[in-house]
Amino acid sequence: MTTLRALQDDITRLHVDAIVNAANSSLLGGGGVDGAIHRAAGPELLQECRTLGGCPAGQARITRGYRLPAKFVIHTVGPVWHGGRQNEAELLASCYRESLALAALRQLASITFPCISTGVYGYPPEQAAAVAVAAVRAFLRTPGSLQEVIFCCFSARDLALYQALLAHEA
Ligand code: ADP
Repeated sequence: MTTLRALQDDITRLHVDAIVNAANSSLLGGGGVDGAIHRAAGPELLQECRTLGGCPAGQARITRGYRLPAKFVIHTVGPVWHGGRQNEAELLASCYRESLALAALRQLASITFPCISTGVYGYPPEQAAAVAVAAVRAFLRTPGSLQEVIFCCFSARDLALYQALLAHEA
């Protein structure tokens, strides 16, 4: 059984096997959670990201965590919100699935997600949270190495959204 929970914190402080970065497609750093992760990890993270050649929306890439307490960073590129009719939900679900698949491939036990696409990319937080929880639950129906999946919310409002969703059985 994998535990699913939500908390309110700065994702760069969490001691987990992998934290997920809401990156942009260049993988060369940006603002928001991406900037915070690069600042906390140190310049070696950018050096490794440069070797990856970018990443399309909906996909994910894994690097080491360097100075972070997390061992790995899984960089995924969320969709930019264009009103909801440009495959945004499928792309967002794919970010969660692909990140979990990389974690499972490495036999990781714990992974933490930020609220992908809900900052600068403009995805409505309620809809994004519903997609995130559904995608993670669907993935976890196949048993694997993961023992804990954490939704790391930056705001109390996001935390309330996740807690409401997680209070209901899948
Ligand atoms: P995107 O470009 O995918 O929208 P952002 O980084 O702008 O990415 O925002 C994604 C989410 O990450 C937002 O909910 C934002 O509040 C949150 N966030 C920003 N900094 C941090 C942090 N240090 N830890 C956790 N979440 C963060």
